[in-house]
Amino acid sequence: MDLMDKIISLCKRRGFVYPGSEIYGGLANTWDYGPLGVELKNNIKKQWWKNFVQKRAEIYGLDGGILLNPRIWEASGHVQGFIDILVECLKCHKRYRLDHLKGAKKCPECGGSLSEPRRFVPMFKTFIGPVEDTASVAFLRPETAQAIFVNFKNIIDSFHPRLPFGIAQTGKAFRNEITLGNFIFRSLEFEQMEIEYFIREENWESHFEEWKKTMEDWVIDLGVKKENLSWRRHADDELSHYSKRTEDLEFNFPFGVRELYGLAYRTDFDLKNHAKFSGQELSYQDPETKETYIPHVIEPSMGVERTFLAVLLDAYEEESGEKGIRTVLKLNPKIAPFKVAVFPLVANKEELVAKAREIYETLMVEFPVAFDDRGNIGKRYFSQDEIGTPWCVTVDYQTLEDNTVTVRDRDTTKQERVAVDKLLERFLNYLK
Ligand code: ATP
Repeated sequence: MDLMDKIISLCKRRGFVYPGSEIYGGLANTWDYGPLGVELKNNIKKQWWKNFVQKRAEIYGLDGGILLNPRIWEASGHVQGFIDILVECLKCHKRYRLDHLKGAKKCPECGGSLSEPRRFVPMFKTFIGPVEDTASVAFLRPETAQAIFVNFKNIIDSFHPRLPFGIAQTGKAFRNEITLGNFIFRSLEFEQMEIEYFIREENWESHFEEWKKTMEDWVIDLGVKKENLSWRRHADDELSHYSKRTEDLEFNFPFGVRELYGLAYRTDFDLKNHAKFSGQELSYQDPETKETYIPHVIEPSMGVERTFLAVLLDAYEEESGEKGIRTVLKLNPKIAPFKVAVFPLVANKEELVAKAREIYETLMVEFPVAFDDRGNIGKRYFSQDEIGTPWCVTVDYQTLEDNTVTVRDRDTTKQERVAVDKLLERFLNYLK
């Protein structure tokens, strides 16, 4: 089994990711996140928010709508410019995005001839109200960015920020993708974590370079290996309609080196167009010089699911030892679904179970904790290693005498004796 198959199987078996609508035969390229997956996803988003909003005085948070006034997608250029070029194999009818074929003239699957290219707007269309006519058309947002631009004036009026400043948002985006697959790498709905960082035009290159470093540092801190990351600059003919420079932070996925995140210099394209289409003034006035202008913008855009996949791939290890192969997810404890697992040494000794439950209930107030009393201790350790739980606490006979437990570390497998009343403080310290 290759690494991707191992990760997909672990995700399904242990409750990270399930195929969407599974009991109905599925809905291709949709995924549901199980109890451990939702913890991991939430932890990624929480770390992102802490790092980019809570710890940065000049970045403001926002939670804009998924449905926006359809004129917004005209102003943003999505209706005219957010186009995928689709070709279809005339033999096996598989569809491809032209830019993914890299010049191939035949179907990579069956060698069949390809159709003429067709233009395709990958936004999901829906209707507001009971009448499905052109006046009621609405789109599910294909990026979170536009809600940020349309709230630019609100943030200026409420907070009077000075340049440079940013507006950050996390949330669902939807794209009617032509080519899909590779597990959660490319799905129809996904979550983005985006910032629009407003700057003076003349400073764009230095901000761009700074953001490259910031994005890279963030994802490395989360647990992605530096050697699996690289930057790729978009060629001029590849640039999106709004961008003057775009670079992708790519990750070495098992199916190839692919985009993990994007960083785009969107110039003043969006604010200028929204000002034109809405008839509203969307400029910024320098409080000292009183100079008034439309700021330019740098956009770091990061996908939650691609982060999820990259951290799992880089955390996955198999180690052979006396007790067989140990599969371990060496996740950064900050994002691990469970921080601690608590076990009674044996399940049929009432005092041990009661003590273990008491510790479990004390710790669970602060962070997610697992409880396991099945099988032997070795199996329980292996089971927690596989889902990345950093520490396991075992209540044994000595606990009943001196109120200490063993704490076993996931990465070193070393065990230590720790006083029960010091446990919480110790774990909270580790998690800092
Ligand atoms: P690609 O070239 O892979 O289609 P993109 O350049 O269209 O990606 P962006 O528009 O830059 O992607 O979106 C920003 C981020 O959102 C991406 O870097 C990625 O992390 C995430 N993303 C985009 N499309 C998807 C998708 N269909 N499924 C999961 N994540 C996605």
